[in-house]
Amino acid sequence: MLRQYFIFIFGIAILTGGYWVFTSERPQQIASVEKKVQKANPTITTIPIPSCIDKPTPEVTEGPYYKSGSPQKTTFVEEDTIGTRFTLTGYVLDSSCRPVANAWLDFWQTDGQGIYDNDGFKRRGHQFTDSMGRYVLYTVIPGEYPERTSHIHVKIRATDTSSIKTTQLFFPDNSQNTLDSIFDESLVITITNQEGTTGEYNFVIEK
Ligand code: FE
Repeated sequence: MLRQYFIFIFGIAILTGGYWVFTSERPQQIASVEKKVQKANPTITTIPIPSCIDKPTPEVTEGPYYKSGSPQKTTFVEEDTIGTRFTLTGYVLDSSCRPVANAWLDFWQTDGQGIYDNDGFKRRGHQFTDSMGRYVLYTVIPGEYPERTSHIHVKIRATDTSSIKTTQLFFPDNSQNTLDSIFDESLVITITNQEGTTGEYNFVIEK
């Protein structure tokens, strides 16, 4: 009888402890990471660390215009670049929703008229997430081209040895989206200002 009583008390203690860890510790951890993000770079701190309900980012086709060996850069905008200026930011997260520092992202896209630079590396470039798992791309809203709505291609890799995820990002409220067989609602950028010139997308990858 005494033994059963102790087992019962022990069980209650485990449940209470588990509940406390789940409800109180995790938000504290997130809040502390957010604080560090704000301290590290006040210019791109408007994005809160996302919650952990995100599913892995879907993969879609690479398409015919990828070129390996892109230069490292975060801006695709030059003086004569055609298109509406757009700043894309976000995190690379692992499947437990932890920011992935130093993840490799290789972006490529058209200019505002739907034209790729297939001879050089305009609007093609790779970068690495910062110590808090964030990236930023200064670019233009890509134009449509036959059978394709506006999209930005990207390849992502957590570390040198992890597998590469290839996908594309889309823009909301584009009438061509529903006509594009590659379009995926879960790959749509969230627009974050009234002018429609900034947006965010958080990638969730397996490490
Ligand atoms: Fe494309």
